[in-house]
Amino acid sequence: LVERMRPFGTTIFATMSALALKTGAVNLGQGFPDTDGPAEMLDAAARALREGYNQYPPGPGLPVLRQAVAAHQRRFWGLEYDPDGEVVVTAGATEAIAAAILGLCEAGDEVVCFEPYYDSYAASIALAGAVRRPVTLRPGDGGRYGFDPAELRAAFGPRTRLVLLNTPHNPTGKVFTREELTLIAQLCQEFGAYAVTDEVYEHLVFDDAGSPHLPLASLPGMRERTLRISSAGKTFSCTGWKVGWASGPAALVSAVLRVKQFLTFVNAGPFQPAVAVALGLPDDYFTGFTAGLQERRDQLRAGLAEAGFGVLAAEGTYFITTDIRPLGGSDGIEFCLGLPERSGVVAIPAQVFYDDVDAGRHLVRFAFCKRPEVIADAVARLKQ
Ligand code: PMP
Ligand code: GLN
Repeated sequence: LVERMRPFGTTIFATMSALALKTGAVNLGQGFPDTDGPAEMLDAAARALREGYNQYPPGPGLPVLRQAVAAHQRRFWGLEYDPDGEVVVTAGATEAIAAAILGLCEAGDEVVCFEPYYDSYAASIALAGAVRRPVTLRPGDGGRYGFDPAELRAAFGPRTRLVLLNTPHNPTGKVFTREELTLIAQLCQEFGAYAVTDEVYEHLVFDDAGSPHLPLASLPGMRERTLRISSAGKTFSCTGWKVGWASGPAALVSAVLRVKQFLTFVNAGPFQPAVAVALGLPDDYFTGFTAGLQERRDQLRAGLAEAGFGVLAAEGTYFITTDIRPLGGSDGIEFCLGLPERSGVVAIPAQVFYDDVDAGRHLVRFAFCKRPEVIADAVARLKQ
């Protein structure tokens, strides 16, 4: 194994899901829904399987999907992208992130990101031989996460190539505000950096969030330097399909495509037209989806509080982070490794997403993208 991959063992998600299988615990670890997405989308996939969509799609993705991706961004975020040249379909957001970093960073270039960060970020940055410059998010008023603007500024420098921003943010549930995004935008412009945004939870922002979802690309001066990434997995409850996309100025999109063609070449033939159908569903689908997840969030949040966890804000995404110190815990890894035997529940220790391990040692993430009866079962177990 090459030196640069040696710090990366098995992902925490695989480890914890295996533990759930082995112990029969309720899995609130890895974020995947336990119900299927919209029937229109599933039917379209079944039809596509029968109707000749089973060979290599075109490199940038099927035109019908690229058009649907562009139309969806116009409808929800007022962003205009040309489906021919400014949109590329990828094997999930994960491939888009990896291809973006590999295609845009020279060895030694620096990538500013917020920690805790989604685990593939560190690995993709390492594969490119680039260097991560994490800025720590810390819980503040009302359990809402924020960052120190001076710390963010200090992370930028002459080698900064890009900022990798995830909002709504996994694992904290943070939704970045206009004020925060404005500072990020100013720094990108001042330091001549690109932005790569991971917006896979774009439709999962709840009523009590401090801000609606705002794509960084919609801020003045940012469209021309931002590569915007999303995927179907979360919005349409099909995490196993691995259909994602990146949109941005043609130069950034073609950098992604240059790399993508040698990673996977193309992906997900019959799922592409199905995701196009899903992206075009009426607004009701999207509002109903958000409202359904918010109910599940409320249910799990109340249950975790009753079970004695310190519950932090969960403004968006699939996740709630908790502080285990009120329960007498101090190390999330130890806590999560024992939890299946002790309580029959699997959760994720947030510290694995930090370079500054002490900042996340006592934090544990629970996923609420599960049926109400599954959440009720988990809560009952945790209370015992
Ligand atoms: N980014 C974040 C923040 C995520 O939580 C995930 C996991 N769903 C991904 C990217 C990966 O998305 P995909 O499954 O589409 O590759
Ligand atoms: N994004 C999901 C999570 O954070 C898991 C994705 C994965 O297993 N790699 O739980």
